[in-house]
Amino acid sequence: MLRDEELRHNLEQVKERTKAACLRAGRPADAVTVLAVSKTKPESDIMALYNAGQRDFGENYIQELRSKAEHLPKDIRWHMIGHLQRNKVKYIAGYVYMIHSVDTEELARTIEKEAAKHDRVIPVLIEVNVAGEESKFGVSLQDAPQLAAYIATLPHLSLRGFMTSAPFVKNPEDDRPVFAALKQLSVDMNSGNTDNSSNMDTLSMGMSNDFEVAVEEGSTIVRVGTDIFGKREYPDRKPDGETK
Ligand SMILES: *Cc1c(COP(=O)(O)O)cnc(C)c1O
Repeated sequence: MLRDEELRHNLEQVKERTKAACLRAGRPADAVTVLAVSKTKPESDIMALYNAGQRDFGENYIQELRSKAEHLPKDIRWHMIGHLQRNKVKYIAGYVYMIHSVDTEELARTIEKEAAKHDRVIPVLIEVNVAGEESKFGVSLQDAPQLAAYIATLPHLSLRGFMTSAPFVKNPEDDRPVFAALKQLSVDMNSGNTDNSSNMDTLSMGMSNDFEVAVEEGSTIVRVGTDIFGKREYPDRKPDGETK
């Protein structure tokens, strides 16, 4: 198969599997956005999917995100999903569609400052390290409400929900409790009556290895790289990757 055809085929497969998981869980077939995680992949790959109608792409590295955003169509929705250093927020604040990886008040404050300069409100998610893994960024489930309360005070951030990367496991069923715990957090937070709770409807969870289980547990955005683009040529790097 030609590369473009292969990419479109892979995306279709992921969408079909996502839909099937929605239906199994009694959710509407269109309840979940497939975010194509294009880190390390060339612009030509992104364009192949863009031409097939895909608009949501996820990147981990600021440099790469900037350069792709500069060259590619302006209606692409760029999601920043990797660990974000405060001194790099300024490079993406003008156009990033959503930041999935807010995990400290300091980072939230920096995003507030940079978003204000662009006179825009940036949708954000709190990254939660549900399983408490040493190697991962994110706040604990226990600390998430406090960070959420802080973000609610920042006028140029709109808190939309939570993101997690589950532990890498052989059997994705093993991660079901992790996804269920994040869903429960969002239910608990939405039953409180903070001012922006009505917007907290996003759960970014599920990757190539485990996205169907995540969808069954309530995910609204799955972040899929490998199953769409194939294996990455080089491993995730520091310091902007999802691993420490
Ligand atoms: C790379 C990455 C993904 C995609 O992972 P795959 O296993 O290739 O689907 C999803 N989320 C984050 C945060 C990532 O860094």
